[in-house]
Amino acid sequence: MARGALASLPSVDRLISSPEGAALSARHGHALLVEAARAVLAEERERLSKAPAAAGADLPALTAKCAAWIETLMRASLRPVFNLTGTVLHTNLGRALYPKTAIEAATQAMAGPVNLEYEIEGAARGERDSHVESWIRRLTGAEAAVVVNNNAAAVYLTLYALARRKEVIVSRGELVEIGGSFRIPDIMASAGCKLREVGTTNRTHPKDFEGALGKATGAIMKVHTSNYSVQGFTATVPEAELAAIAHKHGVPLINDLGCGMLVNLEDFGLPHEPTPREAIANGADIVTFSGDKLLGGPQCGLIVGRKDLVERIRKNPMKRALRIDKVRLAALEAVLRLYANPERLASELTTLRLLTRSREEILSVAQRVMPVVEKALAGQAAVRVLECASQIGSGALPVETLPSAGIAMIPAGKRRSGAADALARAFRALPVPVIGRINEGEFILDLRCLEDEAGLVAQLAHLRLPG
Ligand SMILES: *Cc1c(COP(=O)(O)O)cnc(C)c1O
Repeated sequence: MARGALASLPSVDRLISSPEGAALSARHGHALLVEAARAVLAEERERLSKAPAAAGADLPALTAKCAAWIETLMRASLRPVFNLTGTVLHTNLGRALYPKTAIEAATQAMAGPVNLEYEIEGAARGERDSHVESWIRRLTGAEAAVVVNNNAAAVYLTLYALARRKEVIVSRGELVEIGGSFRIPDIMASAGCKLREVGTTNRTHPKDFEGALGKATGAIMKVHTSNYSVQGFTATVPEAELAAIAHKHGVPLINDLGCGMLVNLEDFGLPHEPTPREAIANGADIVTFSGDKLLGGPQCGLIVGRKDLVERIRKNPMKRALRIDKVRLAALEAVLRLYANPERLASELTTLRLLTRSREEILSVAQRVMPVVEKALAGQAAVRVLECASQIGSGALPVETLPSAGIAMIPAGKRRSGAADALARAFRALPVPVIGRINEGEFILDLRCLEDEAGLVAQLAHLRLPG
């Protein structure tokens, strides 16, 4: 009987020419179905040879397995999720969301030809950065600008073009690591610069820089300590003074801002974050910052500053290797255009809209969503509305938080460790995974970034808590 099950397994041909097989072939194509059928039959053969007494699967069951095999293969790996972590600019969840106008501009650039490097009037070759350069100059007060793949590339290219084989002086208090893969000492080494650390972790004085300057110096670099703060007995050299020291010795001051918001966040009721305009006004020769952090645009890195230096950076052959594509350039231009009207920025620039949401507004969302979550959990967890604190993320204002609100859950009757993990897993298993955070044994959804409330609510019926 067992030998029969193995022997009576259909052939690949029989499987794919069955009615169910034909339907799958029409949908996914012959080649994929053959591949699926071979894999499914091999697995079935293996199963039956290990458990000879088992019954063999029939034709419809085998084709259903083929369908599942194809579905697994074809399922998108990069998928939408709900970011309810409370971190607005979450690097692992893709940072800034494109505003509507940027999505439209990007879509257009994806679908058809554009004048990326083409002067329409003169029918001559153009320069891709020219589409955004005047906007960036206007918004930062810089003489010139270059755009590259991300801020890590901006820092790398600046150092490579301006200070290769030279020393770059940095305060020991600013040897930043961002997310493990970006460390100032490492980027410096890969750009062929020699890092010259001065001062101490907590205090650096003008004389420390003065003492290190010499023939070998290529630049002084200031790095915004974007993901930590040094507090207590501290001293840093004010930017304007640092610029004066650099200029007296004929070397540029490079200021890596990291975030670089283009407007004063205090105008929007948020904590102050240094702007490129301030850095330029304070004497920096080159300022670098990210496009997808507070700026709220696509992933890119902006290099702005003195025209002669920016031209050297632009002409460096590495610029070609680090340039951005037409899609992100289109999105960046659309985002920069939003800054022309600061009065509408908080409603139109998605990142700023999320950052400026008040606790009251988020609380009312929480009060609407909480009963639906409670019902979906059907008594398996205690659910409550909670006041919490969101973070900006991506290294911006690391110690400042924003008053927010959300939903806290704790599995009924079991305050043991791992219970909140099970809840987190159940929410991640939803059709559009919901990502929250765990705090002191509770699973928390911070609703600051929830804009598609209907979409979240609609899928809660699929919530399944194990056991
Ligand atoms: C974020 C950051 C970077 C890296 O920028 P990416 O856009 O992630 O490449 C570099 N320097 C500082 C200070 C930063 O905050």
